[in-house]
Amino acid sequence: MCGQMITRVASRQPIPDEQCKVVDTVRGGALCSADSYYLEVPMQNAFEVLTVSAIKRESADIGTVIMERPEGSGFGTWMPGQFVSLSLQKDDGWTKQHYFTLSNAPGEAVITVTFRHKGEFTDLLETLDTGAKVRVSGPFGSFCSTIAGQRSVVMIAGGMGITPFLSVLRYYCSKPDIFENAVLIWGNNDPDSFFALPELDAYHFWMNFSAVLVSEHPFQPKHLKKHRITTLQFADGLLSAELLKRHADFKGSEVFVCGSQQMQTYVLEQLQMCGVEQQNIHTEQF
Ligand SMILES: Cc1cc2nc3c(=O)[nH]c(=O)nc-3n(C[C@H](O)[C@H](O)[C@H](O)COP(=O)(O)OP(=O)(O)OC[C@H]3O[C@@H](n4cnc5c(N)ncnc54)[C@H](O)[C@@H]3O)c2cc1C
Repeated sequence: MCGQMITRVASRQPIPDEQCKVVDTVRGGALCSADSYYLEVPMQNAFEVLTVSAIKRESADIGTVIMERPEGSGFGTWMPGQFVSLSLQKDDGWTKQHYFTLSNAPGEAVITVTFRHKGEFTDLLETLDTGAKVRVSGPFGSFCSTIAGQRSVVMIAGGMGITPFLSVLRYYCSKPDIFENAVLIWGNNDPDSFFALPELDAYHFWMNFSAVLVSEHPFQPKHLKKHRITTLQFADGLLSAELLKRHADFKGSEVFVCGSQQMQTYVLEQLQMCGVEQQNIHTEQF
């Protein structure tokens, strides 16, 4: 497939017109970020074919694809929050590209993507075997590229919007003083959609971090017992202004929001009610 692939550069300044143009969509209306500009780069040969080394099951419908990163791969350097496009082999060739955030920490010998199984493409991801080939382009994006410079951060995830924050936490947990205060508020429709809870629990001991899990359908005692959680907090309901204010101090904080368009519309309204300025909000839309 040829044509132009749109990738984002980490810039708050517009890029000169002759080099590129500001584009606020990657696929029909998605991926619009107030502080990002997009640079068009040629797509031919802009991919690598990587080998699946394992698939990890995170929960009933969530899995992680682990791919080897060969010596000299373009995935040697990337930043937490960046995403790739994946294309899979079918009998009649390669599939259309779908976007997934890199969920592991940069610098590891592998790259991983974590996906929820819910459609035609993720059906194929779900059935990948060790040794399968995946066409990977990227890394793209600048979401979270400024997070390391902040003292106080609030990360708000909706559903699979947790993936960039997993990468952030996995990368920065080895630098305990990086944040004076970091809060993760993760909303899901139901309690069974949360995963990696023992890991999130452990970050509390590594860095100035706390996490709140918010489920629209209430948590039952069995969910809380299952993970023997010690530091995570649990709440029922939506990511409302009242709930956000209860768990996060927005004064002096940069706020990072990742999730579906619907989730973002709601959360951005709630943040406005909390008095958070637009300029302190960074978004990535799935
Ligand atoms: C920057 C970015 C990062 C993302 N990161 C993650 C992540 O880490 N984990 C995760 O689970 N999801 C992530 N997503 C969402 C993920 O790309 C889609 O949920 C997934 O591609 C849909 O595949 P499916 O098999 O569920 O749906 P399909 O059955 O393949 O398609 C469902 C619907 O999606 C639309 N669609 C068609 N073509 C595409 C396409 N090329 N890409 C996306 N949608 C299409 C169509 O409306 C179609 O009916 C990310 C999306 C973006 C934009």
